Amino acid sequence: MKVKTTKTLCPICNAILEGAITEEGGSIWLERSCPEHGFFRNLYWSDAALWHKFEQYDSVGRGVENPNVENPPGNCPENCGLCSSHKSGTLLANIDLTNRCNLDCDFCFANARACGFVYEPSFDQIVGMMQMLRSQKPVPAPAVQFSGGEPTMRDDLMELIRKAKEIGFPQVQLATNGIKMAQDIGMVKDLKAAGLSTVYLHFDGVTKETNSKLKSDEKAVKNCEEVGLGVVLVPTIIKGRNDHETGAIVRFAADHIKAVRGVNFQPISFTGAAVEEDMQRERITIPELLQGIEDQTGGVIRESDFYPVPCVVPFSDLVETYTGMPQVRFTPHQHCGAATYVFITDKGMVPINRMVDVESFFRSIENLTEKLKKGGQLNKYMSLIEGIREMNDSFKKSEQGSTAQFWKLIGKTLVMQNFDALREFHWNALFIGTMHFMDRYNYDIGRVQRCCIHYATPDGKLIPFCTYNSGPVYREKVWSTHRK
Ligand code: SF4
Ligand code: SF4
Repeated sequence: MKVKTTKTLCPICNAILEGAITEEGGSIWLERSCPEHGFFRNLYWSDAALWHKFEQYDSVGRGVENPNVENPPGNCPENCGLCSSHKSGTLLANIDLTNRCNLDCDFCFANARACGFVYEPSFDQIVGMMQMLRSQKPVPAPAVQFSGGEPTMRDDLMELIRKAKEIGFPQVQLATNGIKMAQDIGMVKDLKAAGLSTVYLHFDGVTKETNSKLKSDEKAVKNCEEVGLGVVLVPTIIKGRNDHETGAIVRFAADHIKAVRGVNFQPISFTGAAVEEDMQRERITIPELLQGIEDQTGGVIRESDFYPVPCVVPFSDLVETYTGMPQVRFTPHQHCGAATYVFITDKGMVPINRMVDVESFFRSIENLTEKLKKGGQLNKYMSLIEGIREMNDSFKKSEQGSTAQFWKLIGKTLVMQNFDALREFHWNALFIGTMHFMDRYNYDIGRVQRCCIHYATPDGKLIPFCTYNSGPVYREKVWSTHRK
């Protein structure tokens, strides 16, 4: 049964095709026919009920006011960069600092060894990319992440982090294998002093079978804990390889809550040399991942605790209405990812859903925004107080009743405009999220057009993650054009 139509690509020749999203046997499938290569049907989401629940959170963004490229609708993903048809602004911008690496992983296609050349933009080119990102309208990109290859191979990394702060990025991140950070606590101190906000640590498991650099990762996390630098663990999840350790990874994160702020699970996407048999054997979709977390945490964290990323759009609306200023909007496609927060307490892990009836909480945020829109300046505080009372009801409806900690956060943030409260919140809570990057077997142009994670390139473009690394794979062209 067809549930939706979309645009997609032929997995062989990348021709733009009409796609049908269908439901059958309790799963969701992507179907399309290429005039040259025939019919293809691939798994999109393994749980149709969860797909429908997430579908309700569809929220299309407003794009950017100053796109880098003009592109007629229907041409995506040709002439990418960020184009006039793109529907979301940049939330997180990746900048590949180098394709050199200090590991030699067999599966890696994104390194100098596999490419046969070095890609390494100059300091000035990187500064240009960052300035372009901060000039995005109506909202400058709030976060930059240095990636690679292995970005710690750059001698000017500290200078680049300092420059990113100077240019105005509130959030500066580093995606790393953590090898150098494990070896040298002095370097971790320097990263923190330069202004780094968070380390995105590639971390595939808690045993030596799933994670060949486990000892190094543990040391890197310990060094970050000593220095007070936040870490997000980033496991690539492969069915049959490490999907049995998702619960243990969450527990590892909870045990290291002083440093670890979150886990960002990435179900494997089959790019590079991967073939269809690899995909059939190792594919894991978001619902299977979430079910695995539920099973492996003994039901402490449930699949139903997770929400799609655009669920937080009502918060942006509220702050926009309250302040009159355009805000960052979390509008990736509703089927790109899922997330929740888990509080680490003396009694163990408590998902936020046990503290708040999330759905009625979102409704009260929407009601409050409506009231503020109608209320005018004079009634602003009255509306706020009334709205917060309504929000409190969503705490009462939750399983564990009103929670002082969360209540305090909402009060401080909304009434007193104290956004430090959010920082406090993050230190007590663990973010657990997942994003399923696409590959040729599940490529949905409807998703990539809404992407909020973009790569900046030396020629002044912004390429969404899933066209940079898959589909047309702009990475190859960018790297080879700007090779050293
Ligand atoms: S992915 Fe976005 S920026 Fe790229 S071509 Fe499509 S709509 Fe344009
Ligand atoms: S990176 Fe891919 S999976 Fe993530 S938001 Fe962008 S299009 Fe969706």
